[in-house]
Amino acid sequence: MNNFPTDKESLVKSLENRDKQFVSELFAAANVIKEKTIGKKVYLRGLLEISNICEKNCFYCGIRRGNPLANRYEISEDAIVESAGNAYEKGYGSICIQAGERHDEAFISKVTRIIRRIKEVSEGQLGITLSLGEQSLSVYKKWFEAGAHRYLLRIEASNPALYGKLHPADHSHAERVKCLGYLREAGYQVGTGVMIGLPWQTAGDLADDLLFMRDFDIDMVGMGPYLPHEDTPLTKICSSGEVSIPSREERLELSLKMVALLRIMMPDINIAATTALEVLDPKGREKAILAGANIVMPNITPTAARGDYNLYDGKKNLTESPALGEIEIGYNQWGDSLRFKSRV
Ligand code: SAH
Ligand code: SF4
Repeated sequence: MNNFPTDKESLVKSLENRDKQFVSELFAAANVIKEKTIGKKVYLRGLLEISNICEKNCFYCGIRRGNPLANRYEISEDAIVESAGNAYEKGYGSICIQAGERHDEAFISKVTRIIRRIKEVSEGQLGITLSLGEQSLSVYKKWFEAGAHRYLLRIEASNPALYGKLHPADHSHAERVKCLGYLREAGYQVGTGVMIGLPWQTAGDLADDLLFMRDFDIDMVGMGPYLPHEDTPLTKICSSGEVSIPSREERLELSLKMVALLRIMMPDINIAATTALEVLDPKGREKAILAGANIVMPNITPTAARGDYNLYDGKKNLTESPALGEIEIGYNQWGDSLRFKSRV
């Protein structure tokens, strides 16, 4: 047993405790639990941001439909398959295909073909994660049958009232939860996550986010700091002074604490050291690994498109490969969630 209880009240206390020694003991405890349960190795998911065209209008996101300043792109099927092939040759065990949300038949069938072709060029070896938003059960099934086996759909904020403040009225928290259920039904390893340091968000909300992940018995998690994008409604609300967000330093620390607490609560899941951490600190991802994360997602999007997948400010300046110090990498391996394996 460790000294970090995970009932709601204790989680809130841990999230609010900024004592340096407490925080470093929390990170160390989480890292020990990770190493004992799933080992030291970190697994790679090459991130392919295949398009920034999006039907949705989330108030925080730079590629929301309502941002006329976003320079829209869609990478060709051949270029995507080629990038995936290169990643495979470099020893990546898996890739993650991410994009804005679309429901048109052209997009759905393009994704299906891409999955099949990537499976072909890698002789079935490359694992495929998708992060393509809310879809119907039949679309999720189609992509699963084509060869994808993990899906990342963040709940963004588990508190429906907070979710409501971050999205237009036609975006539904209940629908998002329903989609997480569909993903499980379709057979995927299911990942979710939240943004940390959002306006209006309390330590109680963050504790509930962790409990939501545990209660859903999630297989993988990608969560990271909220980062403002200058051309979004949420940034305008914050700069009007109506509400504020924690400082960069606080958001970094809170994000690392969320990783550590979740690792203590769910020792055998996959937890990503997310890209957004790196915007706040060049060593952000390495720090997350030392606080319990075991997945890194280096960007393998073809460079011509990379500057335009701007979910938040500061993203375009990031380098492909994060600083990982002495960290041991599991090349050529899927690095599946042990939680998923033991449940199935
Ligand atoms: N459209 C898909 C996948 C792409 S967006 C979807 O929304 O699920 C991927 C993630 O980027 C979102 O889940 C959200 O959590 C994150 N994101 C978007 N804008 C952000 C911002 N301003 N700061 C931090 N993360 C952001
Ligand atoms: Fe679209 Fe995802 Fe951004 Fe929302 S977060 S606007 S769904 S890309």
